[in-house]
Amino acid sequence: MFELILSSFLPLLLQYKLLNLYHTDMLNVNFFTFNAFEENTYIIANEKKECWIVDPGMYQQDEKEAVYEFIASKQLQPKAIINTHAHLDHIFGVQALMNKYNIPFSLHEQETEVLKMAAGSAMMFGFDFKDIPKPTAYINAGEPLQLGDDTLQVFHTPGHSPGSISFYYPKGNWLISGDVLFSGSIGRTDLPGGNFDTLIKSIRTHLFTLPGETTVLSGHGPATTIGEEKKHNPFLK
Ligand SMILES: [Zn+2]
Ligand SMILES: [Zn+2]
Repeated sequence: MFELILSSFLPLLLQYKLLNLYHTDMLNVNFFTFNAFEENTYIIANEKKECWIVDPGMYQQDEKEAVYEFIASKQLQPKAIINTHAHLDHIFGVQALMNKYNIPFSLHEQETEVLKMAAGSAMMFGFDFKDIPKPTAYINAGEPLQLGDDTLQVFHTPGHSPGSISFYYPKGNWLISGDVLFSGSIGRTDLPGGNFDTLIKSIRTHLFTLPGETTVLSGHGPATTIGEEKKHNPFLK
């Protein structure tokens, strides 16, 4: 009833502003799928149009242009790159963003070794990739990660990679899980520093203790929820 009165009597512009109030204090997430590994790159933005890029996987020039165009069209101001881990498919676009926007790049300190192996893995997979980025800061698990006025919780979720971290935003009910948990699957554990038991333990300890309705935004494939994976994920029965 209240809404009805509002919409009947307020001028259009004022209505728009009132509606907008409901969304002004939430981070929103957009995503792209990039490179031969079909990796998901997430762009988190706030109402001040500040944005953070998670796991930029742009390899081809047109993939890089797609991100630049998105940022320009939404008039976003990139603040930093934050990575869940340092596998090749998640770091292809880091250096390009650092150069273009002059922004820092952070990840968990235990990914430093993985980052050092990136040039070798690129050669092995046949990629022409020499822009191996250097982190400008480290993200500590257990400490809140400040994105403008908002905070993400950071969980250390090793097993797929030793310094894998997951970003949890309780206010918006979502989690960026990197390659730890996928819809109906889990990250591979046969790469250097990977361990199956560690991965399962990470998921049970840090992810399956979150509310069932939490949306899981994975490093590959579609989004899912914690509740759905608890019920149906064959690796976690
Ligand atoms: Zn990975
Ligand atoms: Zn990946």
